[in-house]
Amino acid sequence: MAVKVCKFGGTSMADGNIIRSVKRIIESDGERRYIVVSAPGKRYSGDKKVTDLLYECHKKLCGGADVKECFAPVRARFESIVRELNSGIDIEGELAATEERIAAAMSEDFTASRGEYLCAKVVSLVLGATFVDAENVIFFRENGELDGERSYKAIREACPDRSALYVLPGFYGSDPSGKVKTFSRGGSDISGAIVARAVQASLYENWTDVSGFLACDPRIVDSPRPIKSVSYKELRELSYMGANVLHSESIFPVRKANIPIRIKNTFRPEDEGTSILPITRYKPSGNVVTGIAGKKNFTVIFIEKSLMNSEIGFIARVLEVLRRNEISVEHIPSGIDTMSLVIASEALTPEKLSLITEGIREAVSPDTIRIIEDIALIATVGHGMSSSVGTSARLFNAIAAEKINITMIDQGSSELNIIVGVKNEDYEKCIRAIYREFFG
Ligand code: ADP
Ligand code: ASP
Ligand code: MG
Repeated sequence: MAVKVCKFGGTSMADGNIIRSVKRIIESDGERRYIVVSAPGKRYSGDKKVTDLLYECHKKLCGGADVKECFAPVRARFESIVRELNSGIDIEGELAATEERIAAAMSEDFTASRGEYLCAKVVSLVLGATFVDAENVIFFRENGELDGERSYKAIREACPDRSALYVLPGFYGSDPSGKVKTFSRGGSDISGAIVARAVQASLYENWTDVSGFLACDPRIVDSPRPIKSVSYKELRELSYMGANVLHSESIFPVRKANIPIRIKNTFRPEDEGTSILPITRYKPSGNVVTGIAGKKNFTVIFIEKSLMNSEIGFIARVLEVLRRNEISVEHIPSGIDTMSLVIASEALTPEKLSLITEGIREAVSPDTIRIIEDIALIATVGHGMSSSVGTSARLFNAIAAEKINITMIDQGSSELNIIVGVKNEDYEKCIRAIYREFFG
């Protein structure tokens, strides 16, 4: 029997009324058998996500506060959801047990995971479905990576009946010692993908609050064009570069099994949404550019040295300095005698930065080493770009016309992506300029 895995994000779980709509969506398609849920998200702008409340709860607990007091805002959210559902569900026992376990574990990951746990409990009761705890079926290895094969097998064993209905909490699993461990933020998307792979779903539906992937962030451009179809590769580039509709790591489990993903809108279920497909099945939009995404707050370390290219081991020695300082590098655009290291600023304290620059001076004696801070990266992505002459010229002209200075260019070897670095303050203006050029 063909089955679909449906992951519902935080906005789809925000209150009892929305959970009722989710129930209707699930019941309107008999193939929707495996449900993965996030913790309740924001109900209105300025509201707090349950996961954020739980991180605050953990901090207060570590500061010596009483668990009842720390957990009270989370308890209040779930009590109001249950009240709104008005279906005789009782989760008092779960709430009390959760308080006890939070106090006993004193673990940030454990506390943060309880939003998904409690939400999945509520949804399983509403649907009359079987609850399967992610703690018992999603496993991490010692090095923090997912243990895929062990997880897929455990999920299949815990959910053996393809005609039954199962609900699993997203965002967490357990480490080799059995302790709860979470993915990075937004990680319920990854949990959904893991379940889809485990049960060989015909489709992984990811339900959120927008009608699919849009050509750029709707908070920057008003009503950007929806994208009907993107390839796994384009999605990876766009989501890694900041289009956070879907966690950038969620494609790995499904890509191997060629399982398509569909982004759908819980608030407009009739909208078609976006299909994410292997390149062999993907239907190009006919547009040169598929989408634009970006992130702020990078630091660029610019290194110049004559004849750098002929110096054997130059790059290796520079990267060794980063490894020693436990810093990962996002991009390394390079010229004949120059290279830049683009690093997320949040990973760099002033002390780390001076250790790194000193280390590079010692390791390779550069002619120049310069630090450029407050840089935003913007990726313009599309399979159409490699076959269309003059795309880079159009991109750079559009940016120049707005008098925005480009501090760095990285044209990835995938020919699918051109990344420009601009000042943080030019970020939104630059995205709007690129959007107008290719979609306006
Ligand atoms: P969920 O809680 O369902 O996981 P997220 O907040 O993680 O939802 O992702 C959906 C949000 O992603 C949208 O509300 C939108 O503001 C934001 N977003 C950023 N870039 C894009 C884009 N290119 N297309 C659509 N949404 C985008
Ligand atoms: N609730 C978690 C977060 O807010 C995971 C998720 O929503 O995907 O990051
Ligand atoms: Mg999300």
